[in-house]
Amino acid sequence: MSGVLVVCESKEGKLRKPSREILSLGRKLAAESGGTLSAVSFGTGAADLASDTGSGGATKLFVVNDPSLDDYMTETHTSALQAVVAMAQPDILLFSASTNGRDLAPRMAARLNVGVASDVTSLEWSDGKLRGTRPLYSGKVIAHFEAAGKPAVATVRPNAVPAEDAGGAPSEVVPVEWQAGEPKTKLIETKAPAAGELTIAEADIIVSGGRGLKDAENYSYIRDLALALGGAVGASRATVDAGWIDHQHQVGQTGRVVSPNLYIAVGISGAIQHLAGMSTSKHIIAINKDPEAPIFRVSDLAVVGDLFEILPVLTEEVKKAKAQH
Ligand code: FAD
Repeated sequence: MSGVLVVCESKEGKLRKPSREILSLGRKLAAESGGTLSAVSFGTGAADLASDTGSGGATKLFVVNDPSLDDYMTETHTSALQAVVAMAQPDILLFSASTNGRDLAPRMAARLNVGVASDVTSLEWSDGKLRGTRPLYSGKVIAHFEAAGKPAVATVRPNAVPAEDAGGAPSEVVPVEWQAGEPKTKLIETKAPAAGELTIAEADIIVSGGRGLKDAENYSYIRDLALALGGAVGASRATVDAGWIDHQHQVGQTGRVVSPNLYIAVGISGAIQHLAGMSTSKHIIAINKDPEAPIFRVSDLAVVGDLFEILPVLTEEVKKAKAQH
């Protein structure tokens, strides 16, 4: 077994939390298989991640330092990663099931002529094979799989495994030669979320609003509570379709699948397509005026009442409690 290669994503020079999670998982797999753990990052300043990846337990950090890789583009990143894989020859190739990871992993797997296990929630190395689990049919069944082919490629659901630093020395930086070709696509514009706004993909706490909010302005109730808790704002599809909030906030079958520590569903009925995106959250609180709302079947704490009365009080209490600490 030669090793595990983790494809890292960074923001403002720091490893993103889902990448720290897959480094922890990669470290476990490397220990189980007797191989090494390496990481890869792209773009100008890619080598600056060496201390973060070292803390995650990676002995080597492969870097492709080319400005054409500063922004994620499917074509260029697939080509650059292919050069790294050719050099590193990993047995296991791990991605986060982030927007970029979900795009890049199947592309890479196709080039390597192997399959991809997507959105997995656990992985282990046993009897010389990568095995794992992934939820199917909106989390109603858990599929157990074993990967065929080399390398075994998987995308790991954010928040499915803890990010535990190993406290290791900075990774040895290994530059990789790569020739940027003439890409067929051009990045025209990137729209970033408002400063300080957390994305639902990596948040520990998500407060989600549904049609019970009545109109777009009332999302301020959700934002205020999310801000007080230090969490992200989520949404049901009904509110996204109504144009009250952007699609990047949508949780569910046709939105994001999230697994935060705490998910607060406010004025959301709990349609199967919504549950598909949040039922693996560690703790679920639902606030709904209808005691029969299906969301209560998956919630740990059910609050039956009017969200317009409950949320302002709850937000104030959270602020008070935070101020005391
Ligand atoms: P509703 O179902 O209308 O529920 C509103 C809730 O608010 C009700 O339970 C009501 O009791 C409560 N309420 C009203 N007023 C108050 C108040 N004052 N205080 C407290 N509670 C109140 N949906 C998703 O969310 N994500 C998806 O990814 C998704 N994908 C889909 C894919 C397909 C193919 C299809 C067919 C549907 C999909 N849907 C998805 C839509 C889904 O079926 C539901 O229509 C949607 O989730 C309903 O959103 P909601 O819970 O906000 O609205």
